[in-house]
Amino acid sequence: MKRPLIILYILGFYIFFQFFWWAFLLIQLNDEVCHHKIESLYASTLSISEQDHEVKLFQKKISGRRWMVLGEGAVFLTLLGWGILVTSRAFKKEMFLARQQRNFLLSITHEFKSPLAAIKLYMQTLLRHDLDKEKKERFIQNAIRDTERLNTLVENALLASLIDHNGYSFTKEDFNFSAFLRLIIQKFQQVPENKKINSTIEEGLHVFADKNAMAVLIHNLLENAQKYSPKAEKIVVKLNHTTDEVIMSMEDHGIGIPDKEKSAIFTKFYRIGNEETRNSKGTGLGLFICKYITEQHRGTITVSNNKPQGTIFTITLPLIPS
Ligand code: ATP
Ligand code: MG
Repeated sequence: MKRPLIILYILGFYIFFQFFWWAFLLIQLNDEVCHHKIESLYASTLSISEQDHEVKLFQKKISGRRWMVLGEGAVFLTLLGWGILVTSRAFKKEMFLARQQRNFLLSITHEFKSPLAAIKLYMQTLLRHDLDKEKKERFIQNAIRDTERLNTLVENALLASLIDHNGYSFTKEDFNFSAFLRLIIQKFQQVPENKKINSTIEEGLHVFADKNAMAVLIHNLLENAQKYSPKAEKIVVKLNHTTDEVIMSMEDHGIGIPDKEKSAIFTKFYRIGNEETRNSKGTGLGLFICKYITEQHRGTITVSNNKPQGTIFTITLPLIPS
């Protein structure tokens, strides 16, 4: 992948070098012509004052030519340098995207295959063996959890593709965001393996938003808080308001996000680390979608460090006075 970039640099260097060489030869030739011309002027039959006058005129002309070569050269070299810079930047961006997409394909294949295989296994076991009620329930819960994971995955992939083609249209309505958030948290808590959520929700806060998109947003943030924290840690969800905004925050005590990665995590397919060393599952679409959704609702999403460790995601949305 890097070969075209190396060829571009070699070509650029060659053009620079050639240009300097030709400019040097041209100026040298110019000087030689000037020298001969001056000699021939002094050897001419003109009077001394006329000779001096002609020589001065000629020297002025030659100096003008030299500045012309240098000036045009400078413009040419600046344009060339700029062209190489723009091309190499575009190329590096392409390479970055291609790597992210490769990562995405690797992870999405794995992500689809493992829950499908697990669901199949749960179903086969339920069918073949006469299990007691408790085991049956556990298997069914696990199958539901895997189905939910698949559902999030498909929803995220579909949404990201719609976002890319500007094809997602939000159906916004005025609704009680406090009640909505409470309901999603309740559903999240129904899965026994999920972390405990401590919530402080101010009642009666209304927003004008797309309910589906808000569910995707909250779900992605909760899933991240769950995925990137140790098992025993709790998640804290807060909802309050200022005069014109609803502020929702999700706090975890997990592995945290290094400062230099904080802006990159909202890029499509971006995951911290690389696919070989990473042990959590994911496609790198979640936060890209969250950012798009909040921006489309004239809101903001920011990330900061939690104390003593972990991450806080803060979302603001315009408040609808009730
Ligand atoms: P998915 O598309 O399934 O959500 P993902 O979780 O890897 O995959 P994002 O939700 O976009 O993708 O998150 C991007 C990256 O940001 C993650 O891979 C992870 O490294 C980091 N990250 C996100 N949330 C947290 C968090 N709460 N704590 C620590 N790291 C996080
Ligand atoms: Mg995620």
